[in-house]
Amino acid sequence: RHLLERIAGLDAQYNSFITTCEDAALASARAADDRLAAGDAGPLTGIPLAHKDIFCTSGVRTSCGSRMLDNFVPPYDATVVERLRDAGTVTLGKTNMDEFAMGSSNENSYYGAVKNPWDTNCVPGGSSGGSAAAVAAGLVPAASGTDTGGSIRQPAAFCGITGLKPTYGRISRLGMVAFASSLDQAGPMARTAEDCALLLEAMAGHDPRDSTSVNRPVPDYCADLDKPLEGLRIGLPREYFGEGLQAATGDCIQAALKELENQGASLVEVSLPNSHLTIPTYYIIAPAEASTNLSRYDGVRYGYRCDNPADLDDLYTRTREEGFGDEVKRRILVGTYALSAGYYDAYYRKAQQARRLIRDDFLACFEQVDVIAGPTTPGPAFGLGEKSDDPVAMYLEDVYTLAVNLAGLPGMSVPAGLVEGKPVGLQLIGRHFEEARLLNTAHRFQ
Ligand code: GLN
Repeated sequence: RHLLERIAGLDAQYNSFITTCEDAALASARAADDRLAAGDAGPLTGIPLAHKDIFCTSGVRTSCGSRMLDNFVPPYDATVVERLRDAGTVTLGKTNMDEFAMGSSNENSYYGAVKNPWDTNCVPGGSSGGSAAAVAAGLVPAASGTDTGGSIRQPAAFCGITGLKPTYGRISRLGMVAFASSLDQAGPMARTAEDCALLLEAMAGHDPRDSTSVNRPVPDYCADLDKPLEGLRIGLPREYFGEGLQAATGDCIQAALKELENQGASLVEVSLPNSHLTIPTYYIIAPAEASTNLSRYDGVRYGYRCDNPADLDDLYTRTREEGFGDEVKRRILVGTYALSAGYYDAYYRKAQQARRLIRDDFLACFEQVDVIAGPTTPGPAFGLGEKSDDPVAMYLEDVYTLAVNLAGLPGMSVPAGLVEGKPVGLQLIGRHFEEARLLNTAHRFQ
């Protein structure tokens, strides 16, 4: 009730929620009380939570930030939602996001931009900006997010919270609206690494209904949180500290790294020589996959349908013209162009080859170091409207986060300090399935 009142009273300033579910939340809070009374409670029983509006929720609208799904009420729960509910959490509502998770500022939502609680003239980051802002504003202690190219880590950095993108395949994608299927991964967003560990443990695990989810045991992510950092080797990629990184943000990251060094970790310079390929590679692969995933929104089966279509072509054309926003259309155009007959070798195949080089760079570094660290973003949150007319400037926001998705690795953003009163995030990248090591490293900042 306390948090529902906070949301009702404060969220007009932030616009972090698209939907709230008061009655269902109070009913599941009562069920949590019963579990507590019966001595049947786990660590998450009764914990209030919000879900990014990309996760299907049975009987509750799931818009994905788009007019296309404004009227879509799924008949089933995403696996992430189901698992967190079974763990006893109480869903307060669905959070705002960039349309179909395409964006880095949350300005691409059909439901309006989200404001950063640290400075409401600034963006909260995207695409999980609603989840990040809601946690930062104390409207909810934790929220789910998804990260295809930085959408958990970048808003976590801009809003001063902790966010974890797990290894590709660690968490089921069933019921998570697809953007770029080979990159999409769900993860927790919360105040601390410890909270992320608790949530990850509930979210992770094999799901026979998602063939890309990995069948491998889920560790106890809290077990090693307090392990000392002695002997930990942290690699600092020289490409992440050069041109493009704002000076004050660089200083803040160096101070955070110093702290890890004081606690026994050693810092080693490493190189990811193909870093310059990440933005062009991502912006072929992600739009290509998006263009095929989004072909299902045709006005026939579910979602938005235009009024009075003259014929089938008119139905498809006007439904998509009216249902999708500008950034989504831009991605569909780029993706269908790259996948056109005759262009495969020049674009998609090339991008897949570059993707392998990017992945191999990381694997080579992980022969020398246990964790890679650097900035999550080039600077702190930027102003609302500052980059919204310049897609290329917006894409540059993701320069440090995209490679992690291309390589399928786990990545995290941890609050590192403030620059001009705004939070900056330290990014930690681990070997495949070494989320526990990232959480252990991040826990030092608590
Ligand atoms: N900002 C990137 C994009 O627009 C990443 C988004 C994401 O991770 N969903 O594609």
